[in-house]
Amino acid sequence: MLMNTPESIDTILIGSGLTGLSAAHYLNKAGVDFMVLDRNPQPGGVIQTHTENGFVYETGPNTGVIGSSEIAEMFEDLQGLCELETANEIAQKRYILKNGQWEPLPSGIMAGIKTPLFTLKDKFRLLGEPFRSRGKDPHETLSGLVKRRMGQSFLDYAIDPFIIGVYAGDPDILVPKYALPKLYNLEQDYGSFIGGAIKKQFQKKTEADKKITRKVFSAKGGLSNLAHALYTKAGKEKFLFSISDLSVQPEGELFQVSWTSEGTTHTVIAHHVIFTGGTFDLSDSFPFLEKSELEKITNLKYAKIIEVTLGFNHWKGMELDGFGGLIPSREKRDILGVLFMSTLFENRAPEKGALLTVFMGGIRNEKISELTDEQVKEVVKREISDLMQLPDFNPDLFKITRYHHAIPQYEVSSGVRFETIQMIEKQYPGLLLGGNMRDGIGMADRAKQGKMLAEQIINRQND
Ligand SMILES: Cc1cc2nc3c(=O)[nH]c(=O)nc-3n(C[C@H](O)[C@H](O)[C@H](O)COP(=O)(O)OP(=O)(O)OC[C@H]3O[C@@H](n4cnc5c(N)ncnc54)[C@H](O)[C@@H]3O)c2cc1C
Repeated sequence: MLMNTPESIDTILIGSGLTGLSAAHYLNKAGVDFMVLDRNPQPGGVIQTHTENGFVYETGPNTGVIGSSEIAEMFEDLQGLCELETANEIAQKRYILKNGQWEPLPSGIMAGIKTPLFTLKDKFRLLGEPFRSRGKDPHETLSGLVKRRMGQSFLDYAIDPFIIGVYAGDPDILVPKYALPKLYNLEQDYGSFIGGAIKKQFQKKTEADKKITRKVFSAKGGLSNLAHALYTKAGKEKFLFSISDLSVQPEGELFQVSWTSEGTTHTVIAHHVIFTGGTFDLSDSFPFLEKSELEKITNLKYAKIIEVTLGFNHWKGMELDGFGGLIPSREKRDILGVLFMSTLFENRAPEKGALLTVFMGGIRNEKISELTDEQVKEVVKREISDLMQLPDFNPDLFKITRYHHAIPQYEVSSGVRFETIQMIEKQYPGLLLGGNMRDGIGMADRAKQGKMLAEQIINRQND
């Protein structure tokens, strides 16, 4: 913990989740004078790993995808402090529930022809996908885009469960231009998902591109080890936890940042301020920002999630031979899906045991967040006993974690939100508004944005 508060500093970084930690990592590498403030008592933000009675479990994100070179680079930089763990190959098998039965999502052409997940009509229709014309509405919803290019059954049994798995979201609301820009750009740049994906495979890859393996990852021993390694490498003495009443005010070209720590109010003058929290914290932290402008950012909706961790010393249910199972909305079940964590990563459960993570709620089932713990347990017992063929629901570990602001939903208002953020940053040079309100929600996106935020500060210093 920081012993003395300096009078002035180059950069104040608000938040020590993965975005803040990634920014801190790169600021430290460049030798910038900075400090990190967080209201939590420890680093990691929503990333939190726990160890109990032979189980190692996550109560925030469980797995990431190596979808940016920055996340890969960070693990390289952290060698000796933490180790990348990619998931067991079996993770490629992903189950989707249809009519109460788990069906593997097909990965090859033969499996695609045989799968009962999609209708025969849509399988034939898919052959015409490369020849369909481009969409013209940049605010078309994901449902609209998928129905137009692929058909209703692909929307219901591939895209809807995928979106539940990533966003706990609703394809009728999410806008691909903001929520899935890579998919959106495939259609815009190449005119087709299939054609674009094939052409991209043959494009020359840079060294950075080669690092984007899209493998499922964690850190050995859990994701908190990644957070702690970043915290250690960036310099623990630069972090101050358990702060409250954070408030930023512009002062000429600088910023006056004040907060309370252990009952004392502290004030520092900073050249730069980086914010990496949620939109719901903006008005208290930046009281000088105009309400009418802020509303264009704070109208961002977040999915509420209940995450339930289940540990079994002796697993007696179905074979856990995959990544897990996702449940399309059409199936009308009370859980969103279940991850087979002890299959994916080493040493997460006792031998012969199992560790599962169950997700409930999401944007379509907000009422579920009102359930009491007893009611949550009843639902999980009913659903898991049935879906996982478990004769006797008697977990040795049972934990409930609730999130009111779990995953931001990048819907139609996102364009205005991004423009407003840019406008504020232009109006107050030196203030950077990051976090998952923009630039993507996944951990790989967070690492990428963290590096970008740090580079913006470093470039300003060099100007
Ligand atoms: C339940 C859940 C499951 C997820 N699953 C996955 C997954 O499987 N794969 C994946 O890639 N991503 C997943 N995500 C998304 C991913 O985890 C997040 O996008 C990412 O970790 C967010 O990091 P962050 O640093 O931007 O924000 P956070 O982790 O929220 O950190 C922000 C930090 O800022 C601090 N802070 C904010 N405002 C203030 C203030 N005013 N004063 C003091 N401190 C402040 C907070 O205390 C917090 O520590 C999941 C998220 C959740 C919640």
